[in-house]
Amino acid sequence: MSSKAPDSDNVCKDLESMLALAKEKIHSAKSSDEVEQLRVEFLGKKGKVSALLSILRDATPEDRKKIGATGNKVKINLETGISRKKLELEKDELNKKLENDELDSSLPGLTNAFGRPHPVRQIMREACQILERAGLKSVYGPEVEYEDYCFDRLNFKPGHAARDMQATFFVKNAQAESLVLRTHTSPVQVRVLLDLAKKEFPLPIRMFAPGRVYRVDDDATHSPMFHQIEGLVVDKTSGMGDLKAHLDYFFRQFFSQSTKVRFRPSYFPFTEPSAEVDISCVFCDGKGCRVCKSSGWLEVAGAGLVHPEVFKACGWDPEAVGGWAFGMGIERLAMLKLRVPDLRSFFENRLSFLRATSLGSPSR
Ligand SMILES: [Zn+2]
Repeated sequence: MSSKAPDSDNVCKDLESMLALAKEKIHSAKSSDEVEQLRVEFLGKKGKVSALLSILRDATPEDRKKIGATGNKVKINLETGISRKKLELEKDELNKKLENDELDSSLPGLTNAFGRPHPVRQIMREACQILERAGLKSVYGPEVEYEDYCFDRLNFKPGHAARDMQATFFVKNAQAESLVLRTHTSPVQVRVLLDLAKKEFPLPIRMFAPGRVYRVDDDATHSPMFHQIEGLVVDKTSGMGDLKAHLDYFFRQFFSQSTKVRFRPSYFPFTEPSAEVDISCVFCDGKGCRVCKSSGWLEVAGAGLVHPEVFKACGWDPEAVGGWAFGMGIERLAMLKLRVPDLRSFFENRLSFLRATSLGSPSR
């Protein structure tokens, strides 16, 4: 042992007596500030415990072990004593303050941050409510769907671009059934038509199908998962005029009474004739702006009369019934109503965005 080396027994004794002294001081402390000062005095970087333990540098391994163990015990003891005393004094101090302070009723109260439905869900709910008011009933179907229901019975020929691996998520399963994540909500129509085909008085069918759909797509206006809502009405006489009236009603309720709806000829495998549905631009009231590319119109939905091949594939006689259908993306409606330029914002779950897009705020 060198002359500089500490005597471990002495150091341990010093540590113990320092602990006793500290305990006394802690016990008689009168305020939480005083306790905090004691913490700095004993446990701070330049405090008494550190000073005593600095001796460890020159100690033999054996002494280091002994002194280290005592040092740790003292530290833990002090930390516990100090935080307990501090808590106790802080509580007393708060109670005293509450007793002496007069109530200041002008101070803002404590508020709870209440949750609210996601903007997409709010828009979905609103769309459903409007369709219910129009006399349509909600029907739900599975998101993992037979390829047959998703494409074949809806008159998508084999080799159609939508069936491509690039556009559709295919699902492998042990039974080797041909399953996909549904790319649209239309297979719900197939299920309803198949189900009712054999019933005695199935008409009229007045339904809408809301839900999640999936496509291999991801950019500012497309997401691999998004929400659709679509309607189907089948009756003996329902035609384009009836369809237009329903969509007029829907968009006027959803956006504003002055919203105009127009049809443009289009093509979908499952409707004939088919139409793209435009509404007068909600940003410029049809005058022309950047969003509508100066056209005054915004594309919002697809629609048309149910294709005879779809009726046949679902067990119906296309000569005996008529029907129409429409479909639209909920995120698209939400982007227009809440004025959100990037679809991806809906799925990033930033609280500031979710709060700002709560319905009742920036909408029209
Ligand atoms: Zn516009």
